[in-house]
Amino acid sequence: MALAATAAVTTATTITMAAATATARRGPGMPTPLDLLQDIYGHRGFRPPQEEVIDTLMAGRDALVLMPTGGGKSVCYQIPAMLRPGAGIVISPLIALMQDQVAALQQSGVRAGFLNSSLTAAEAAKVERQLRGGELDILYLAPERLIQPRSLALLADSAVSLFAIDEAHCVSQWGHDFREDYLALSLLHETFPHVPRIALTATADARTRREIVSRLALEEARLFLAGFDRPNIRYRISLKQQPRQQLLRFLQEEHSGDAGIVYCLSRKKTEETARWLDERGFNALPYHAGLSAGQRAAHQARFLQEDGVIIVATIAFGMGIDKPDVRFVAHLDLPKTIEAYYQETGRAGRDGLAADAWMVYGLQDVIKLRQMLERSEGDERFKRVERIKLNAMLGLCETAGCRRHTLLAYFDEDSPAECSNCDNCLSPQQTWDGTEAARKALSAVYRSGQRFGVGHLIDVLRGEETAKVQQFRHQRLSVHGIGADLSVDEWHSVFRQLTVRGYIRVDADRYGALVLEEERCRPLLRGAERVDLRRDPPQQTARRAARALRRAAAKEALAAADIDPALWERLRAHRLSCAKSQGVPPYMIFHDSTLRAMAAAKPRSLTEFAALPGVGRSKLEKYATGFLTIFNQHP
Ligand code: ADP
Ligand code: ZN
Repeated sequence: MALAATAAVTTATTITMAAATATARRGPGMPTPLDLLQDIYGHRGFRPPQEEVIDTLMAGRDALVLMPTGGGKSVCYQIPAMLRPGAGIVISPLIALMQDQVAALQQSGVRAGFLNSSLTAAEAAKVERQLRGGELDILYLAPERLIQPRSLALLADSAVSLFAIDEAHCVSQWGHDFREDYLALSLLHETFPHVPRIALTATADARTRREIVSRLALEEARLFLAGFDRPNIRYRISLKQQPRQQLLRFLQEEHSGDAGIVYCLSRKKTEETARWLDERGFNALPYHAGLSAGQRAAHQARFLQEDGVIIVATIAFGMGIDKPDVRFVAHLDLPKTIEAYYQETGRAGRDGLAADAWMVYGLQDVIKLRQMLERSEGDERFKRVERIKLNAMLGLCETAGCRRHTLLAYFDEDSPAECSNCDNCLSPQQTWDGTEAARKALSAVYRSGQRFGVGHLIDVLRGEETAKVQQFRHQRLSVHGIGADLSVDEWHSVFRQLTVRGYIRVDADRYGALVLEEERCRPLLRGAERVDLRRDPPQQTARRAARALRRAAAKEALAAADIDPALWERLRAHRLSCAKSQGVPPYMIFHDSTLRAMAAAKPRSLTEFAALPGVGRSKLEKYATGFLTIFNQHP
């Protein structure tokens, strides 16, 4: 019975496919952008502002698109590249990304290729021939390659439908690896004045935007600013207590078997953390600039191709990683800016399913980052900008309000005051009037001569008689014992928040001695300012709150999906075997979101299968039969 059903299905496939192709070929004129979106990608409709961007390019105009990671930038240039005569040239800085995108396009039946240094001369010559012969719709090209005379001659010799400049913020970032090559891209406008150009980036601040416009001569381009919200990402930032244990609990209780990224500041720490996780049964691999190119490529390939690999990385990892099913991004160290945090956390949940951005941070992070900044080489103006950015990052950590609202406000975007999907919205933070405590803390710093670290200052405030207190005769200070009403943890919290807010500076050259920022302190000490502090949850409560959050998350996932786990595993296994036989990662066969929709809809026919999100013509043809067999065998 099952066999007969399968056979029927196969025949139906053939007929339907042939018919579909014929209609598309014979149809009244060109397919529309929407036809391609449904036919090739299997998406039902456009997201804003994809359609308008496409119309702009179709009309031969330039466009500048600022859209968050995962927003759907690719179709903005891929569809017009297919619809306009000639090939769309996509300039993209990373070789790994190129292979990935081209493989994904080919999976969907698009005629795509790439040219970069990873190809042999013969392979490159073949791609060049294809381009000249009009056999490609999309060609990916590395920027340094594009500006070579040979490539310019090739392009002059071929029909070019558009130029897409991906990761366009590279033109504006100082010290960016690709900056020089990107700056040279201004020649596109001069050499090919009639070919429309589209620049794309996920970095949204106004300064970067202005620089892209002027460097790439995009003054005439239409600007598209998409919302930066990533509603499926749940933001969580908590105090660093025992960071590894905290991470372990998070992974064990919420993400066993999931793929994710753990970011650390130093190479050494990525190695140690990866080993530590590995010993606890996780599939964890390190990634940093100190590894050989071969090792890095191997680890990245495993991350992309296997299920449930965790990469423990420095910021060297991530740009151009297009994996849609990264379920979490964890930070064991604080990023330097909100831009960096946003970009790194943005790598989670590109498929739109629930994902976590999880971070622990503490006073030591603040001290370390401030030291790095002060010792860095930039001039004073540069440092001032970096200081402002770091303070904004710290503000995000310390806020008692909605994290998402704070993040979006940083990118100048309005949003509701509460999002219901961040730690502060899910379990509201309490604040307390810390004015009195702050004054005591500042006095303790001042009266002990601005030479001591936080541990000793807390001893003094709490009236301890330690050896050090006696050595410096600090029991005689007027501040000795005036803070016995607060616990050691509470005082740590006060000092941390005063440091973050700029009342106190940590002197790097004197072993972490705390020093007053007098200007900033004056109004507070004069009694002209009030300070509200965030009440750090005691460890036990923090754990209970975290557990409640996790339970809520688990319940949500179950209720939302209503999926039979056995069926889910069968579908995943089948996807993996398709992936292996095609030599591509599983998500290039179908995203998790498609698999989930499949598990929920239990399609029995080609028509039902074609209606699933993420199923386009080419994938219908290649995979429908195999998956339908599963449903027909397990009614
Ligand atoms: P970006 O380059 O902006 O990070 P991508 O182009 O990789 O984003 O798209 C991110 C995800 O969104 C992909 O999984 C893609 O399939 C999906 N996507 C893009 N456009 C649509 C759409 N109109 N409808 C549904 N899903 C879409
Ligand atoms: Zn919120």
